[in-house]
Amino acid sequence: MKVRKYNIWTIGCQMNEADSRHLGSQLEALGYAMTETPEEADLVVLNTCVVRQQAEDRAVGRLRFVDQLKKKNPDLTVGLMGCMVGMREAPRLKKQFPFVDVFMPPSDPGPLMDFLRESQDGNEDDDARIEEIRSKNLQNAIQDEEYILPALQRTNTVQANVPIVLGCSHACTFCVIPYRRGPERSRPAEDILKEVRKLVAQGVREIMLLGQIVDRYGTDFEEDYGLAELLQDVAKIPEVLRIRYLTGHPNYMTDKIIEVTRDEPKVMPHFELPVQAGNDKVLVDMKRGYTCDDYRALIERVRRICPDNTINTDIIVGFPGETEEEFQGTYDLIKELELDKVHLAKYSERPKTIAARKMEDDVSDADKESRRLRIDELVDEILTRKNQKWLNEEVEVLVESRHKGKWRGRTPHNRLVFFESEENLRGALVDVKIGFTSPYSMQGELVKVKVPALPQIPDLTKIPMFHRPLKETLNAG
Ligand code: SAH
Repeated sequence: MKVRKYNIWTIGCQMNEADSRHLGSQLEALGYAMTETPEEADLVVLNTCVVRQQAEDRAVGRLRFVDQLKKKNPDLTVGLMGCMVGMREAPRLKKQFPFVDVFMPPSDPGPLMDFLRESQDGNEDDDARIEEIRSKNLQNAIQDEEYILPALQRTNTVQANVPIVLGCSHACTFCVIPYRRGPERSRPAEDILKEVRKLVAQGVREIMLLGQIVDRYGTDFEEDYGLAELLQDVAKIPEVLRIRYLTGHPNYMTDKIIEVTRDEPKVMPHFELPVQAGNDKVLVDMKRGYTCDDYRALIERVRRICPDNTINTDIIVGFPGETEEEFQGTYDLIKELELDKVHLAKYSERPKTIAARKMEDDVSDADKESRRLRIDELVDEILTRKNQKWLNEEVEVLVESRHKGKWRGRTPHNRLVFFESEENLRGALVDVKIGFTSPYSMQGELVKVKVPALPQIPDLTKIPMFHRPLKETLNAG
């Protein structure tokens, strides 16, 4: 009997990664098996991003490729998911891409599940097939009936993203996300904790709590329960080794959240606080709701309360009307504050946003690129210097994966570390002595293993339903 296979292509933010994981595990509960090869899939899903034109262009390119696949295999089911679909773009997209069978808003696999159930209705063959695969899934995976991780990811996914705030109700003038992900709503803490418990039962050791404005978690609850309380509750789950959260908004980072980050050993001292621009006029035009001095005060407060920290930020260069002088403000602010990693983007006009409707995208691409490069060089300089402080030091690393013959993991400050060892160390918490630093990674030697690796994974190639395992799966250990 032929096993139906699914393939999910994902682009964009961590939220999309989490949505794809949820979707994959639900498809497996329906009896589908994952394949990495879209050509042999019966179901292909594209999980899309439109935060910048470039991401949207890639999704459109992938849609053309899937159109060709469907021409060769008319039985192929095609699903389109994520911010391209948003809450109301489906009718327009259906006209543009008529070969797409199902459209799913971000974080909502519902329409696809309904479609698949309907198309399987009354087909006894399918019922038998689903039962058979279900029982196979259960035998071969960890003894857990919950499909929280797609089977191929069980016992080899060290870090998992968990959405805690869905949507966004801010109206930053450049940003399309509120139009596509709907209004802000916090997930009930019980749901989140349940998901985390299932994830760690299947091997996950680091939890990344996600929200467009993660520090607004719980502001829509009646009770007084926010991100600080949630962090403490997640930390109580014994198998969780590390917790991070992103992305914060400067206006909502409370002392309490910073204190919990300092006091709770499992919460990593890692802050993501997008400033977007370092000029007050541009910040007003972006409708960010703070000034450069407010941001300076925030950084000062984070550093005072939680002195051991890493602070990353997001910057957009070339926002409409941004002059050379205004850009210089952004450059100077990063230099002055010595922030850590900068997620850097050139402004990209997005449909329906206030900036697209009311402002002219008048900074030339050459200027945007030159501004981007200047910030890039500055951040290189800062990180080169900052990372040197770890040279010859021992740092704690949570090992995530194997990369070009080395183990790859992260420090509490989210620095990437590579080191060699023949042992299986996936998921282990180890100490590494740093012997080499660069702006974006460090290398060192293994000193000791503090928490042992995840149990050796089974050889998934032996399981017929998994045609091709994930690339990294078999290289481990
Ligand atoms: N909610 C967070 C970040 C979410 S969007 C915040 O705004 O603080 C992720 C990043 O994409 C943003 O921080 C911003 O830097 C970038 N971004 C969003 N819209 C953009 C646009 N139109 N052009 C370029 N970059 C954009």
